[in-house]
Amino acid sequence: MVQNGARKRVVLLGATGSIGENTLRVIRANPDRLELAGIAGRNSVEELAGIAREFNLRHVSVYDHDACARAQRSGLFDRSVQIYPGPEGLREIAALPAADLVLVAVVGIAGLEPTLHAIRAGKEIALASKEVLVLAGKFVTRAARDNKVPIIPVDSEHNALFQSLQGSPLRHVSRLMLTASGGPFREYSIEQMMAVKPEDAMRHPNWSMGPKITVDCSTMANKGLELIEAHWLFDVEPDRIEVVVHPQSIVHSIVEFVDGSMLAYLSPPSMTFAIQHALLYPDRGGVVDSPLDFARTHNLEFHPPDPDRFPCLRLAREAAETGGVAPAIFNAANEIAVEAFLKKTI
Ligand code: NAD
Ligand code: MG
Repeated sequence: MVQNGARKRVVLLGATGSIGENTLRVIRANPDRLELAGIAGRNSVEELAGIAREFNLRHVSVYDHDACARAQRSGLFDRSVQIYPGPEGLREIAALPAADLVLVAVVGIAGLEPTLHAIRAGKEIALASKEVLVLAGKFVTRAARDNKVPIIPVDSEHNALFQSLQGSPLRHVSRLMLTASGGPFREYSIEQMMAVKPEDAMRHPNWSMGPKITVDCSTMANKGLELIEAHWLFDVEPDRIEVVVHPQSIVHSIVEFVDGSMLAYLSPPSMTFAIQHALLYPDRGGVVDSPLDFARTHNLEFHPPDPDRFPCLRLAREAAETGGVAPAIFNAANEIAVEAFLKKTI
């Protein structure tokens, strides 16, 4: 627990990625409330060394063994920096005694083990890596309950739902609605989709993110993963979680209550809103990126998703309703398919 007036000490897993970069911006904007205590990355040791210097860090985990050896040989890091190599290092830094909160933002299932370690060590969790809940939601949420640690969602839709649900018991909630931009192929025909390349999928209209999640957005597999993520985070059955296409990415999700009232959460499409909320919760910080400006005109559109052109959404829902290992199978098949698509082998 962070004492009044003390800074929250944060370990950031995935520090060199897109969420990592935005998290560093939030930490820079809150020097009196947040302190970076440790970072982890896969292999970009130069970048990790730069972050370590800027934030005067002592704890850095490098997953890739060759990159780790290179870092140790090259003297990139100060002598005072302890390097935590490989998967063991990632687990160890996730349970760092000098930390209060762990932000998990590595891609795919690599986030699972460190998340469980952080929970068992009693760390607060800010979770960006949705795959962790898709793969093992039952075990992760149970471990969090047993260890009395909160999991605050960083995924923008889930952070939006978390904020809109404050103060409402679950029996007042009838449906959760996840908004989806629809991605770069929102208006493509099936024939057009047959010819798309990784470069086309990388052109997301609203968000700048890592390659895996950007491809997931183009197929709407991302929204399918988020449906399963929402089920575990909020204890709501999949048949009460819907997807709404909202091309502007301004409304990040909607809660519908039993009386038909709805609460929506709005912000511009920048991850710093959700990240700062998750890091400072239950407190709030100042503005990092400018909020929406109603001195300008905004049009907000909402459409139903098309299950024929975006079958990943239907497959994810089927996996969520089947339960058991089905979501893990959906997740694994998706990770392998995305990797193959990015390497142009499919
Ligand atoms: P990214 O590809 O930009 O960055 C991934 C980071 O994880 C890098 O720092 C990389 O070095 C690190 N990493 C990868 N494998 C690792 C391993 N085995 N060990 C240690 N570090 C490893 O990805 P991203 O877009 O920042 O996404 C990260 C996670 O957050 C994903 O699960 C994604 O679904 C989720 N997420 C991202 C966004 C977004 O806006 N980018 C939004 C919502 C959720
Ligand atoms: Mg999201």
